[in-house]
Amino acid sequence: MKFHVLTLFPEMIRQGLAPSIIGRALEKGIIELNAVDIRDYSLDKHRKVDDYPYGGGAGMLMQVQPVYDAWQAVCGGKKLRTVYVTPQGVPFTQKLAGDMAKEEELVILCGHYEGIDQRVLDEVVTDFVSIGDYVLTGGELPAMVMIDAVSRLVPGVLGNDASAEEESFFNDLLEYPHYSRPEVWHGKPVPEVLLTGNHRRVTEWRLEQSVEKTRRVRPDLFAKYEEKQKLLKALSKDKRNMIPIMESLSRGQGEILYQKDGDVVVYAPFSEVCMLALSNPANCERVYQSAVKHPAWYLVFSREMKDYLLQQGHALWGECFQYLYTLRQTMPVAYKQIRSLTIEDLPYVNAHYGQDGEEEEYLAERILSGAMYGAYDEQGLIGFIGCHNDGSMGFLFVEEPHRGKGIAVSLESFLINRQLERGYIPYCHVRKENTASLHLQEKLGLYRAGRPVWWVFGSPESELTKD
Ligand code: SAM
Repeated sequence: MKFHVLTLFPEMIRQGLAPSIIGRALEKGIIELNAVDIRDYSLDKHRKVDDYPYGGGAGMLMQVQPVYDAWQAVCGGKKLRTVYVTPQGVPFTQKLAGDMAKEEELVILCGHYEGIDQRVLDEVVTDFVSIGDYVLTGGELPAMVMIDAVSRLVPGVLGNDASAEEESFFNDLLEYPHYSRPEVWHGKPVPEVLLTGNHRRVTEWRLEQSVEKTRRVRPDLFAKYEEKQKLLKALSKDKRNMIPIMESLSRGQGEILYQKDGDVVVYAPFSEVCMLALSNPANCERVYQSAVKHPAWYLVFSREMKDYLLQQGHALWGECFQYLYTLRQTMPVAYKQIRSLTIEDLPYVNAHYGQDGEEEEYLAERILSGAMYGAYDEQGLIGFIGCHNDGSMGFLFVEEPHRGKGIAVSLESFLINRQLERGYIPYCHVRKENTASLHLQEKLGLYRAGRPVWWVFGSPESELTKD
């Protein structure tokens, strides 16, 4: 991801982002920074960029010409998302950071003095964003705050993929407290549960702490969390069929767009999957209206809703059985040489799984997110498995000469164990015609939900077949 910062103080931006994690990500080229001095675009011989505001009032204003020319030079004819940092903008949140992390390039415009002439803002800015209800002297600190928060959500910037997932705001909850050595300090011991080595108990304790802290400190966030908990409780009556919606909510990925009388629409922005559950076939239109228009995918839990989407011109990708692992016990893993894939493994994974360029980008993102695992022998990789960006298990592949030796069972068991450590309920969707995978799920003892689900393309068929 590339950040372009239009500023009067480019050195401040470069130096501010040089140390530590963000600096290392810049060095490695995982993110790029282009700090542009707006003064370089001034047509004034003294490099002046400001003037008095019409109508009077205190302070100077940045003028349209240098700002516009700097912006045009950076965009080079492309329509890049352009953020003006301003106290008059919408609050910068973790959710907005996640949304911005999906951009390939982002332009951040920093104001100074009293701000910038409104006309150029109207022409170039797509997002007006504030970092808080106070006024700073310039946009450079807000720009750095945003770059820091966005970058750490770019796959590969944080070494440990789980760390971003467990932090404050991820699930409308503030993070739990942390402890390190010494075990006792000033007579205060580390909470006992953290010393047990029992992952499940630790996860439960941390969740309790997060809930309690959020309730106390941030009642606004807590209200959102409670709304999700209520829906989770209602869905739990049909848990085995509703597992993707429930996992999406409890893993902090899903947002409730609509819920009434058993009809539910939940959208997961990261995977761009819009999930539609319907209790009454007469409500198809209402549910469709509440859904995100043209997400990447619709995941549909009722046949009537699927038929309705097809009538609206969407194409069916496939009908799948849902399998879930409801036990909390870890699985034995017989094949020992399984570990996380690295980006060097991308050509292998792409050769055996990817179908086109777009798929390769997705696979790279999955590997960098730490969601993929490989089985190796002395020669190298012989198979892999991973989690899709919606949270379901998939991507399973074992090379022909190594099949029938239990490697697929080991790979899936290994992945299930990783998911259990995080407190997830592992699940997968298997197309009805994929008999080998259906057989594997049964062999592993996964539970098959009573009803199938349908994956439907988000764009109408006419859009998909355009070229
Ligand atoms: N006159 C402006 C107002 O009242 O909204 C404030 C201008 S401020 C002194 C100068 C610049 O600092 C702004 O143009 C903006 O780019 C940046 N800035 C100041 N406070 C900010 C905040 N809370 N969030 C984002 N940017 C801010």
